[in-house]
Amino acid sequence: MSKPEEHKQAEAKILNSFTIVQQQCDTCAQQLELPADICEIIKNPMREIQVSIPVRMDDGFIKVFKGFRVQHNDALGPTKGGIRFHPDETIDTIRALAAWMSWKCALLELPLGGAKGGVICNPREMSEGELERLSRGYVDKIWQLIGPDMDIPAPDVYTNPQIMAWMMDQYSKLAGKNQFGVITGKPLYVGGSIGRNTATARGGLYVIEEAARTAGMDLRNASLAIQGYGNAGYNLAFLANDIFGSKIVAVSDQRGGIYCQEGFDPLEIFNHKIANGSVIGCPGTEQISHSELFTLDVDILCPSALENVITEDNAPFIKASIIAELANGPTTPEADDILFDKGIQVLPDFLCNAGGVTVSYFEMVQNFTMLYWDEAEVFERLKKKMASAYHSVYNASEKHKVNMRQAAYMVAVKRIADTMILRGWA
Ligand code: GLU
Repeated sequence: MSKPEEHKQAEAKILNSFTIVQQQCDTCAQQLELPADICEIIKNPMREIQVSIPVRMDDGFIKVFKGFRVQHNDALGPTKGGIRFHPDETIDTIRALAAWMSWKCALLELPLGGAKGGVICNPREMSEGELERLSRGYVDKIWQLIGPDMDIPAPDVYTNPQIMAWMMDQYSKLAGKNQFGVITGKPLYVGGSIGRNTATARGGLYVIEEAARTAGMDLRNASLAIQGYGNAGYNLAFLANDIFGSKIVAVSDQRGGIYCQEGFDPLEIFNHKIANGSVIGCPGTEQISHSELFTLDVDILCPSALENVITEDNAPFIKASIIAELANGPTTPEADDILFDKGIQVLPDFLCNAGGVTVSYFEMVQNFTMLYWDEAEVFERLKKKMASAYHSVYNASEKHKVNMRQAAYMVAVKRIADTMILRGWA
């Protein structure tokens, strides 16, 4: 094999999120001394669905889209997890994300397992009508394998409450009755929960609050750099600034980043992005590259976009003392070791971004009981859950002298493994 090919293969291996999940399972199984059969079960998703979705496009022609739904493990309850619409979607990414959902639900003590779905498409290039037909077409193909007591999808990258409403409606038509509980992240009028739209960011902020207290950091003076300015990134910036007065000094989107040492108004940046398609060029800010954002001298770094952005290449240069992973899978295992040696506190994805699925679970409870909660009740319950999950991970990391991610794995996987043994699966 030639050198460049070798290099390419090595790179592909490092960046395959499912390979990373399987490695993390092995490490965790060793630490917990799990039986080999339990480890083998959790390393492999229990069900994978791959579908072709023909959609009539606005030009009159049919285009066939590829869709996936992976249900990882349902020991704790029906599976749960978002649906992504992304041009670079792969089955391996969905497999990894489905497993992460299992850990996430277990860690937050939700009576749910993990799943994830995805469709290879570019929603930015599609009209609203095309998106609706794709959303309904996806449900047509998977509806017999999802349901309120089986598998409950939700929003994720490039999907939103409107898409959830179409999907719920399509499922209800096929089932012959209203089934609000089949999907979460819906608009309020069709069974959505107050607070779901900002839940990922709010949950992340509650975890950051606990971590800052542990580290003796005053959030009122803290500076934040946020990679990604979508739902999670923007709401984190807004809430951190609004609730604690923290300084947001850098944010980025697909086109690059912006920086201002004194901090800026997150809403102004958001409005600039809506008007101009990017955060770049917002008055009073200086343009920086994607890689510069990661190595800024800030207190808290928040990767809030896609996978594998903190690697062994940039980890040695990171100066933040807390990394709050609002994205799923932003840090590679090699980078994790480097960050641990540097004494940086990493708040792992399936702890830090679990606010989304936690409020999704609240939404399911509200759908089942038909009793809808006010904002104070949602936020109070969310805060309690996030803080308790943080402390169980922190205590495990102290007790076993492992990093926060390994500790989170140990807590979550142990709960799933114990349940599987109770159910007689191994
Ligand atoms: N897509 C979100 C996640 O990755 C939310 C999943 C859900 O609400 O079920 O956690």
